[in-house]
Amino acid sequence: MTGRLVVVGASYAGTQLAFSARDHGFAGEVVMLGEEARMPYQRPPLSKAYLQGKMAPPAMLLRAEAAFRRAAIELRLGERAVAINRAAREVVLADGRRLAYTKLALTTGARVRRLSVSGQNLAGIHHLRDMGDADALAAAAATARRAVVIGGGFIGLEVAASLRTLGLEVVVVEPLDRLLKRCFPPLLSDWTLALHRRHGVDVRLGATVAAILGDAGRVCGVHLGSGDEIAGDLVVVGVGVDANDELARDAGLRTDRGIVVDAHGMTSDPSIAAAGDCTARLDLEGSQPGGGLIRIQSVQNATEQARAAGATLAGTPTLHLVQPWFWSDQYDAKFQMVGHGSPDDEIVLRGDPESGKFSLFHFRDRRLVAVDSVGAIRDHMTARKLLAHGTELAAHQAGDAGIDLESFCRAASR
Ligand SMILES: Cc1cc2nc3c(=O)[nH]c(=O)nc-3n(C[C@H](O)[C@H](O)[C@H](O)COP(=O)(O)OP(=O)(O)OC[C@H]3O[C@@H](n4cnc5c(N)ncnc54)[C@H](O)[C@@H]3O)c2cc1C
Repeated sequence: MTGRLVVVGASYAGTQLAFSARDHGFAGEVVMLGEEARMPYQRPPLSKAYLQGKMAPPAMLLRAEAAFRRAAIELRLGERAVAINRAAREVVLADGRRLAYTKLALTTGARVRRLSVSGQNLAGIHHLRDMGDADALAAAAATARRAVVIGGGFIGLEVAASLRTLGLEVVVVEPLDRLLKRCFPPLLSDWTLALHRRHGVDVRLGATVAAILGDAGRVCGVHLGSGDEIAGDLVVVGVGVDANDELARDAGLRTDRGIVVDAHGMTSDPSIAAAGDCTARLDLEGSQPGGGLIRIQSVQNATEQARAAGATLAGTPTLHLVQPWFWSDQYDAKFQMVGHGSPDDEIVLRGDPESGKFSLFHFRDRRLVAVDSVGAIRDHMTARKLLAHGTELAAHQAGDAGIDLESFCRAASR
Protein backbone atom coordinates (compact mmCIF):
# COMPACT_ATOMS: atom_id res chain seq x y z
CA MET A 1 0.00 0.00 0.00
CA THR A 2 1.31 3.46 -0.89
CA GLY A 3 0.28 7.05 -0.15
CA ARG A 4 0.85 8.71 3.23
CA LEU A 5 0.01 7.43 6.69
CA VAL A 6 -0.21 10.23 9.23
CA VAL A 7 -0.12 9.19 12.90
CA VAL A 8 -1.23 11.84 15.42
CA GLY A 9 0.32 11.19 18.84
CA ALA A 10 3.84 9.84 19.42
CA SER A 11 3.76 7.50 22.38
CA TYR A 12 3.05 3.77 22.89
CA ALA A 13 0.11 3.48 20.51
CA GLY A 14 1.49 5.83 17.84
CA THR A 15 4.91 4.19 17.78
CA GLN A 16 3.57 0.64 17.67
CA LEU A 17 1.00 1.52 15.02
CA ALA A 18 3.60 3.12 12.73
CA PHE A 19 5.98 0.14 13.03
CA SER A 20 3.13 -2.34 12.58
CA ALA A 21 1.98 -0.62 9.41
CA ARG A 22 5.52 -0.89 8.06
CA ASP A 23 5.86 -4.53 9.13
CA HIS A 24 2.66 -5.30 7.21
CA GLY A 25 3.87 -3.74 4.00
CA PHE A 26 2.79 -0.11 4.12
CA ALA A 27 5.27 1.20 1.55
CA GLY A 28 4.30 4.88 1.40
CA GLU A 29 5.36 7.76 3.64
CA VAL A 30 4.77 7.39 7.38
CA VAL A 31 4.68 10.67 9.33
CA MET A 32 4.21 10.71 13.10
CA LEU A 33 3.20 13.98 14.81
CA GLY A 34 3.95 14.36 18.51
CA GLU A 35 2.98 17.35 20.58
CA GLU A 36 5.73 16.60 23.12
CA ALA A 37 9.14 17.72 21.94
CA ARG A 38 10.91 14.53 23.09
CA MET A 39 11.42 11.09 21.63
CA PRO A 40 8.60 8.67 22.59
CA TYR A 41 9.29 7.35 26.11
CA GLN A 42 7.89 4.98 28.75
CA ARG A 43 5.32 6.59 31.01
CA PRO A 44 4.97 4.00 33.84
CA PRO A 45 8.34 4.88 35.47
CA LEU A 46 7.19 8.50 35.87
CA SER A 47 5.33 7.61 39.07
CA LYS A 48 7.85 4.94 40.13
CA ALA A 49 11.61 4.64 39.40
CA TYR A 50 11.94 7.95 37.51
CA LEU A 51 10.20 9.95 40.24
CA GLN A 52 12.49 8.31 42.79
CA GLY A 53 15.56 9.30 40.76
CA LYS A 54 16.41 5.67 39.97
CA MET A 55 15.94 5.80 36.22
CA ALA A 56 17.15 8.29 33.61
CA PRO A 57 15.50 9.35 30.31
CA PRO A 58 17.86 7.44 27.96
CA ALA A 59 16.70 4.16 29.55
CA MET A 60 13.09 5.12 28.95
CA LEU A 61 13.03 5.49 25.17
CA LEU A 62 10.42 3.31 23.49
CA ARG A 63 12.67 2.86 20.44
CA ALA A 64 16.03 4.34 19.47
CA GLU A 65 16.02 7.18 16.95
CA ALA A 66 17.91 4.91 14.54
CA ALA A 67 15.02 2.42 14.58
CA PHE A 68 12.63 5.13 13.33
CA ARG A 69 15.13 6.08 10.63
CA ARG A 70 15.60 2.46 9.53
CA ALA A 71 11.83 2.02 9.26
CA ALA A 72 11.55 5.34 7.37
CA ILE A 73 9.13 6.70 9.95
CA GLU A 74 9.38 10.49 9.98
CA LEU A 75 9.04 11.80 13.51
CA ARG A 76 7.82 15.37 13.74
CA LEU A 77 8.13 16.21 17.42
CA GLY A 78 6.75 19.37 19.01
CA GLU A 79 3.98 19.47 16.39
CA ARG A 80 0.33 19.51 17.37
CA ALA A 81 -2.58 18.60 15.11
CA VAL A 82 -5.56 20.90 15.69
CA ALA A 83 -8.13 19.67 13.17
CA ILE A 84 -8.92 16.98 10.63
CA ASN A 85 -10.57 17.82 7.32
CA ARG A 86 -11.96 14.44 6.26
CA ALA A 87 -13.39 15.69 2.96
CA ALA A 88 -9.96 16.98 1.86
CA ARG A 89 -8.11 14.18 3.75
CA GLU A 90 -5.89 16.68 5.54
CA VAL A 91 -4.64 17.19 9.07
CA VAL A 92 -4.35 20.84 10.11
CA LEU A 93 -1.32 21.70 12.27
CA ALA A 94 -1.18 24.32 15.02
CA ASP A 95 0.78 26.72 12.79
CA GLY A 96 -1.89 26.47 10.06
CA ARG A 97 0.05 24.14 7.73
CA ARG A 98 -1.85 21.20 6.27
CA LEU A 99 -0.68 17.64 5.87
CA ALA A 100 -2.46 15.39 3.38
CA TYR A 101 -3.11 11.76 4.30
CA THR A 102 -4.20 8.59 2.58
CA LYS A 103 -4.62 6.82 5.93
CA LEU A 104 -4.83 8.48 9.33
CA ALA A 105 -4.27 7.08 12.84
CA LEU A 106 -5.31 8.85 16.03
CA THR A 107 -3.23 7.86 19.04
CA THR A 108 -3.69 11.00 21.11
CA GLY A 109 -3.87 9.32 24.54
CA ALA A 110 -5.52 10.89 27.54
CA ARG A 111 -5.07 13.93 29.78
CA VAL A 112 -5.39 14.26 33.53
CA ARG A 113 -8.66 15.32 35.05
CA ARG A 114 -8.51 18.50 37.14
CA LEU A 115 -10.34 19.14 40.38
CA SER A 116 -12.77 22.01 40.35
CA VAL A 117 -12.54 23.33 43.90
CA SER A 118 -11.38 26.66 45.24
CA GLY A 119 -7.60 26.92 45.42
CA GLN A 120 -7.10 24.63 42.42
CA ASN A 121 -4.64 27.04 40.76
CA LEU A 122 -2.29 27.56 43.71
CA ALA A 123 1.43 26.98 43.25
CA GLY A 124 2.50 23.60 44.61
CA ILE A 125 -0.34 21.56 43.06
CA HIS A 126 0.86 18.84 40.71
CA HIS A 127 -0.62 16.42 38.17
CA LEU A 128 1.28 13.59 36.53
CA ARG A 129 1.00 12.59 32.90
CA ASP A 130 4.25 13.40 31.12
CA MET A 131 7.96 13.70 31.80
CA GLY A 132 7.71 17.46 32.33
CA ASP A 133 5.11 16.85 35.07
CA ALA A 134 7.37 14.25 36.69
CA ASP A 135 10.38 16.61 36.62
CA ALA A 136 8.32 19.37 38.25
CA LEU A 137 7.00 16.98 40.90
CA ALA A 138 10.48 15.57 41.65
CA ALA A 139 11.86 19.11 42.02
CA ALA A 140 9.04 20.05 44.41
CA ALA A 141 9.47 16.83 46.39
CA ALA A 142 13.13 17.67 46.96
CA THR A 143 12.18 20.55 49.27
CA ALA A 144 8.68 19.57 50.48
CA ARG A 145 7.97 17.98 53.86
CA ARG A 146 4.39 16.81 53.68
CA ALA A 147 2.47 15.75 50.58
CA VAL A 148 -1.26 15.35 50.23
CA VAL A 149 -2.16 12.96 47.42
CA ILE A 150 -5.74 13.41 46.25
CA GLY A 151 -7.04 10.14 44.81
CA GLY A 152 -6.26 6.59 45.90
CA GLY A 153 -6.16 5.04 42.41
CA PHE A 154 -3.08 3.42 40.86
CA ILE A 155 -1.29 6.68 40.01
CA GLY A 156 -2.10 8.26 43.39
CA LEU A 157 -0.89 5.19 45.28
CA GLU A 158 2.29 4.84 43.22
CA VAL A 159 3.09 8.51 43.77
CA ALA A 160 2.36 8.10 47.50
CA ALA A 161 4.76 5.14 47.66
CA SER A 162 7.47 7.04 45.75
CA LEU A 163 7.17 10.20 47.85
CA ARG A 164 7.25 8.11 51.01
CA THR A 165 10.36 6.33 49.71
CA LEU A 166 11.89 9.79 49.18
CA GLY A 167 11.24 10.54 52.84
CA LEU A 168 8.19 12.82 52.72
CA GLU A 169 5.25 12.51 55.06
CA VAL A 170 2.31 11.48 52.92
CA VAL A 171 -1.47 11.67 53.33
CA VAL A 172 -3.75 10.01 50.76
CA VAL A 173 -7.32 11.31 50.45
CA GLU A 174 -9.74 8.86 48.79
CA PRO A 175 -13.47 9.56 48.42
CA LEU A 176 -14.58 5.91 48.28
CA ASP A 177 -14.71 3.67 51.33
CA ARG A 178 -11.88 1.44 50.12
CA LEU A 179 -8.83 1.77 47.86
CA LEU A 180 -9.20 0.88 44.17
CA LYS A 181 -12.79 -0.13 44.81
CA ARG A 182 -13.69 -0.22 41.11
CA CYS A 183 -10.89 -2.68 40.25
CA PHE A 184 -10.04 -4.64 43.38
CA PRO A 185 -12.05 -7.10 45.48
CA PRO A 186 -12.30 -6.03 49.16
CA LEU A 187 -9.49 -8.38 50.28
CA LEU A 188 -7.03 -6.74 47.90
CA SER A 189 -8.19 -3.21 48.79
CA ASP A 190 -7.65 -4.02 52.46
CA TRP A 191 -4.22 -5.54 51.79
CA THR A 192 -3.19 -2.44 49.82
CA LEU A 193 -4.44 -0.16 52.60
CA ALA A 194 -2.41 -2.13 55.16
CA LEU A 195 0.66 -1.96 52.89
CA HIS A 196 0.52 1.84 52.74
CA ARG A 197 -0.23 2.25 56.43
CA ARG A 198 2.67 -0.07 57.25
CA HIS A 199 4.92 2.31 55.32
CA GLY A 200 3.61 5.24 57.32
CA VAL A 201 1.12 6.74 54.87
CA ASP A 202 -1.93 8.34 56.46
CA VAL A 203 -4.80 7.07 54.27
CA ARG A 204 -8.14 8.82 54.68
CA LEU A 205 -10.99 6.82 53.16
CA GLY A 206 -14.44 8.25 52.43
CA ALA A 207 -12.89 11.71 52.42
CA THR A 208 -13.76 14.37 49.84
CA VAL A 209 -11.80 17.55 49.14
CA ALA A 210 -13.84 20.74 49.60
CA ALA A 211 -11.01 23.22 48.91
CA ILE A 212 -7.27 23.49 48.57
CA LEU A 213 -5.84 25.94 51.05
CA GLY A 214 -3.21 28.53 50.22
CA ASP A 215 -0.89 30.99 51.85
CA ALA A 216 0.65 33.80 49.77
CA GLY A 217 -0.32 31.99 46.57
CA ARG A 218 1.22 28.64 47.59
CA VAL A 219 -0.60 25.53 48.70
CA CYS A 220 -0.51 24.89 52.46
CA GLY A 221 -3.13 22.19 52.88
CA VAL A 222 -6.44 20.68 51.99
CA HIS A 223 -9.87 21.29 53.49
CA LEU A 224 -12.02 18.14 53.58
CA GLY A 225 -15.79 17.93 53.19
CA SER A 226 -15.92 16.66 56.78
CA GLY A 227 -14.48 20.01 57.94
CA ASP A 228 -11.06 18.50 58.76
CA GLU A 229 -7.96 20.25 57.50
CA ILE A 230 -4.79 18.46 56.41
CA ALA A 231 -1.59 20.48 56.29
CA GLY A 232 0.75 19.94 53.34
CA ASP A 233 3.23 21.90 51.26
CA LEU A 234 2.80 19.72 48.18
CA VAL A 235 -0.46 18.46 46.65
CA VAL A 236 -0.68 15.81 43.94
CA VAL A 237 -4.00 15.36 42.18
CA GLY A 238 -4.56 11.85 40.76
CA VAL A 239 -8.26 11.65 40.01
CA GLY A 240 -8.27 9.94 36.63
CA VAL A 241 -7.92 10.82 32.98
CA ASP A 242 -10.13 11.78 30.05
CA ALA A 243 -9.56 10.57 26.51
CA ASN A 244 -8.19 13.11 24.02
CA ASP A 245 -11.00 12.53 21.53
CA GLU A 246 -11.78 16.13 20.46
CA LEU A 247 -10.00 15.95 17.08
CA ALA A 248 -12.12 12.93 16.20
CA ARG A 249 -15.35 14.36 17.58
CA ASP A 250 -14.90 17.69 15.76
CA ALA A 251 -14.25 15.76 12.54
CA GLY A 252 -17.57 13.93 12.92
CA LEU A 253 -16.19 10.53 13.96
CA ARG A 254 -18.16 8.54 16.51
CA THR A 255 -16.95 9.23 20.06
CA ASP A 256 -18.29 8.30 23.47
CA ARG A 257 -15.79 9.33 26.16
CA GLY A 258 -13.18 8.03 23.69
CA ILE A 259 -12.90 7.48 19.94
CA VAL A 260 -15.16 4.52 19.24
CA VAL A 261 -13.29 1.72 17.44
CA ASP A 262 -14.10 -1.82 16.39
CA ALA A 263 -12.04 -4.92 17.12
CA HIS A 264 -9.59 -3.96 14.33
CA GLY A 265 -9.01 -0.51 15.81
CA MET A 266 -10.97 1.16 12.99
CA THR A 267 -13.15 4.23 13.58
CA SER A 268 -16.42 5.02 11.82
CA ASP A 269 -14.30 6.27 8.84
CA PRO A 270 -12.63 3.37 6.95
CA SER A 271 -9.50 5.50 6.34
CA ILE A 272 -9.00 6.34 10.01
CA ALA A 273 -7.83 4.07 12.83
CA ALA A 274 -7.37 4.88 16.51
CA ALA A 275 -5.60 3.08 19.34
CA GLY A 276 -4.64 3.38 22.99
CA ASP A 277 -5.93 5.55 25.81
CA CYS A 278 -7.93 7.78 23.42
CA THR A 279 -10.27 4.93 22.39
CA ALA A 280 -13.48 3.29 23.54
CA ARG A 281 -13.66 -0.17 21.99
CA LEU A 282 -16.92 -1.89 21.08
CA ASP A 283 -17.28 -4.93 23.37
CA LEU A 284 -18.51 -7.35 20.73
CA GLU A 285 -17.36 -10.42 22.71
CA GLY A 286 -19.29 -9.42 25.85
CA SER A 287 -16.02 -9.38 27.83
CA GLN A 288 -17.44 -7.11 30.50
CA PRO A 289 -20.70 -7.49 32.38
CA GLY A 290 -23.17 -5.22 30.60
CA GLY A 291 -21.13 -5.18 27.35
CA GLY A 292 -21.05 -1.77 25.68
CA LEU A 293 -17.73 0.02 25.35
CA ILE A 294 -14.40 -0.95 26.86
CA ARG A 295 -12.07 1.86 27.93
CA ILE A 296 -8.67 0.65 29.07
CA GLN A 297 -5.69 2.82 29.91
CA SER A 298 -2.65 0.59 29.94
CA VAL A 299 0.56 0.02 28.05
CA GLN A 300 -0.46 -3.46 26.93
CA ASN A 301 -3.82 -2.29 25.60
CA ALA A 302 -2.26 0.65 23.74
CA THR A 303 0.40 -1.59 22.21
CA GLU A 304 -1.84 -4.51 21.24
CA GLN A 305 -4.61 -2.35 19.85
CA ALA A 306 -2.07 -0.35 17.84
CA ARG A 307 -0.47 -3.54 16.51
CA ALA A 308 -3.85 -4.64 15.12
CA ALA A 309 -4.79 -1.18 13.83
CA GLY A 310 -1.44 -0.65 12.06
CA ALA A 311 -1.70 -4.02 10.31
CA THR A 312 -5.32 -3.34 9.35
CA LEU A 313 -4.47 0.08 7.91
CA ALA A 314 -1.69 -1.53 5.87
CA GLY A 315 -4.18 -3.94 4.32
CA THR A 316 -3.97 -6.97 6.64
CA PRO A 317 -7.17 -6.94 8.74
CA THR A 318 -6.10 -7.99 12.24
CA LEU A 319 -8.20 -8.43 15.35
CA HIS A 320 -7.32 -6.88 18.68
CA LEU A 321 -8.26 -9.68 21.05
CA VAL A 322 -9.08 -8.28 24.45
CA GLN A 323 -7.38 -10.03 27.34
CA PRO A 324 -6.07 -7.01 29.19
CA TRP A 325 -3.27 -7.15 31.69
CA PHE A 326 -1.81 -4.39 33.78
CA TRP A 327 0.75 -3.92 36.53
CA SER A 328 1.51 -1.52 39.35
CA ASP A 329 4.57 -1.26 41.61
CA GLN A 330 4.16 0.16 45.10
CA TYR A 331 7.16 -0.11 47.48
CA ASP A 332 8.44 -3.63 46.86
CA ALA A 333 4.99 -5.03 46.05
CA LYS A 334 4.29 -5.96 42.45
CA PHE A 335 0.60 -6.02 41.53
CA GLN A 336 -0.36 -7.79 38.29
CA MET A 337 -3.89 -7.97 36.99
CA VAL A 338 -5.26 -9.89 33.99
CA GLY A 339 -8.78 -10.14 32.58
CA HIS A 340 -11.98 -8.23 33.16
CA GLY A 341 -12.75 -8.44 36.88
CA SER A 342 -15.86 -6.95 38.40
CA PRO A 343 -16.95 -6.29 42.00
CA ASP A 344 -19.68 -8.95 41.76
CA ASP A 345 -17.35 -11.84 40.86
CA GLU A 346 -16.90 -14.87 43.10
CA ILE A 347 -13.37 -14.54 44.50
CA VAL A 348 -11.07 -17.48 45.31
CA LEU A 349 -7.84 -16.90 47.22
CA ARG A 350 -4.65 -18.76 46.31
CA GLY A 351 -1.62 -18.27 48.52
CA ASP A 352 -1.25 -16.34 51.75
CA PRO A 353 -1.75 -12.55 51.87
CA GLU A 354 0.42 -12.46 55.03
CA SER A 355 3.38 -13.69 52.97
CA GLY A 356 2.90 -10.94 50.37
CA LYS A 357 2.55 -13.59 47.63
CA PHE A 358 -1.01 -14.44 46.63
CA SER A 359 -3.60 -14.27 43.89
CA LEU A 360 -7.32 -13.69 43.71
CA PHE A 361 -9.13 -15.67 41.02
CA HIS A 362 -12.37 -14.10 39.76
CA PHE A 363 -15.17 -16.42 38.67
CA ARG A 364 -18.36 -15.32 36.95
CA ASP A 365 -21.03 -17.90 36.09
CA ARG A 366 -18.41 -20.48 37.19
CA ARG A 367 -16.03 -19.25 34.50
CA LEU A 368 -12.58 -17.81 35.25
CA VAL A 369 -12.65 -14.18 34.07
CA ALA A 370 -9.76 -12.42 35.81
CA VAL A 371 -6.86 -12.93 38.22
CA ASP A 372 -5.23 -10.29 40.47
CA SER A 373 -1.81 -11.24 41.81
CA VAL A 374 0.58 -9.71 44.30
CA GLY A 375 4.19 -10.93 44.30
CA ALA A 376 3.05 -14.04 42.43
CA ILE A 377 4.51 -13.65 38.95
CA ARG A 378 4.09 -17.35 38.15
CA ASP A 379 0.36 -17.23 38.99
CA HIS A 380 0.01 -14.18 36.78
CA MET A 381 1.80 -15.72 33.80
CA THR A 382 -0.21 -18.94 34.14
CA ALA A 383 -3.45 -16.95 34.51
CA ARG A 384 -2.71 -15.22 31.21
CA LYS A 385 -2.45 -18.63 29.53
CA LEU A 386 -5.54 -20.04 31.28
CA LEU A 387 -7.60 -17.05 30.15
CA ALA A 388 -6.15 -16.94 26.64
CA HIS A 389 -6.89 -20.65 26.06
CA GLY A 390 -10.25 -20.49 27.84
CA THR A 391 -9.08 -23.41 30.02
CA GLU A 392 -11.82 -24.73 32.29
CA LEU A 393 -10.75 -24.33 35.90
CA ALA A 394 -13.05 -24.91 38.85
CA ALA A 395 -13.01 -22.53 41.79
CA HIS A 396 -11.78 -25.24 44.21
CA GLN A 397 -8.87 -26.04 41.86
CA ALA A 398 -7.83 -22.37 41.72
CA GLY A 399 -7.66 -22.24 45.50
CA ASP A 400 -5.79 -25.54 45.93
CA ALA A 401 -2.09 -24.74 46.31
CA GLY A 402 -1.39 -28.47 45.82
CA ILE A 403 -2.42 -28.16 42.15
CA ASP A 404 0.34 -26.89 39.91
CA LEU A 405 -1.62 -24.56 37.63
CA GLU A 406 1.09 -24.42 34.99
CA SER A 407 0.98 -28.22 34.50
CA PHE A 408 -2.82 -28.13 34.72
CA CYS A 409 -2.93 -25.57 31.94
CA ARG A 410 -0.47 -27.54 29.80
CA ALA A 411 -2.40 -30.78 30.27
CA ALA A 412 -5.72 -29.11 29.49
CA SER A 413 -4.47 -27.57 26.26
CA ARG A 414 -3.13 -30.87 24.86
C1 LIG B 1 2.50 8.19 35.79
C2 LIG B 1 1.91 7.08 34.99
C3 LIG B 1 2.12 5.76 35.38
C4 LIG B 1 1.56 4.71 34.65
N1 LIG B 1 1.81 3.42 35.04
C5 LIG B 1 1.35 2.39 34.28
C6 LIG B 1 1.67 1.04 34.62
O1 LIG B 1 2.32 0.77 35.63
N2 LIG B 1 1.23 0.06 33.79
C7 LIG B 1 0.50 0.33 32.66
O2 LIG B 1 0.12 -0.60 31.93
N3 LIG B 1 0.16 1.60 32.34
C8 LIG B 1 0.58 2.63 33.11
N4 LIG B 1 0.26 3.93 32.76
C9 LIG B 1 -0.64 4.17 31.63
C10 LIG B 1 0.13 4.14 30.30
O3 LIG B 1 1.25 4.97 30.37
C11 LIG B 1 -0.83 4.59 29.20
O4 LIG B 1 -1.87 3.65 29.12
C12 LIG B 1 -0.09 4.70 27.86
O5 LIG B 1 0.86 5.73 27.91
C13 LIG B 1 -1.09 4.96 26.74
O6 LIG B 1 -0.40 5.17 25.55
P1 LIG B 1 -1.03 6.03 24.37
O7 LIG B 1 -0.02 6.02 23.28
O8 LIG B 1 -2.41 5.56 24.08
O9 LIG B 1 -1.22 7.50 24.96
P2 LIG B 1 -0.21 8.52 25.64
O10 LIG B 1 0.93 7.80 26.24
O11 LIG B 1 -1.04 9.41 26.49
O12 LIG B 1 0.36 9.37 24.43
C14 LIG B 1 -0.40 10.22 23.63
C15 LIG B 1 0.55 11.21 22.98
O13 LIG B 1 -0.15 11.96 22.00
C16 LIG B 1 0.22 13.31 22.09
N5 LIG B 1 -0.87 14.12 21.52
C17 LIG B 1 -2.11 14.30 22.02
N6 LIG B 1 -2.85 15.10 21.22
C18 LIG B 1 -2.04 15.43 20.19
C19 LIG B 1 -2.23 16.25 19.03
N7 LIG B 1 -3.39 16.86 18.79
N8 LIG B 1 -1.18 16.39 18.17
C20 LIG B 1 0.01 15.77 18.40
N9 LIG B 1 0.24 14.99 19.48
C21 LIG B 1 -0.77 14.81 20.35
C22 LIG B 1 0.41 13.53 23.58
O14 LIG B 1 1.21 14.67 23.82
C23 LIG B 1 1.11 12.22 23.97
O15 LIG B 1 2.50 12.31 23.83
C24 LIG B 1 0.79 4.99 33.49
C25 LIG B 1 0.56 6.32 33.10
C26 LIG B 1 1.12 7.36 33.83
C27 LIG B 1 0.87 8.78 33.40
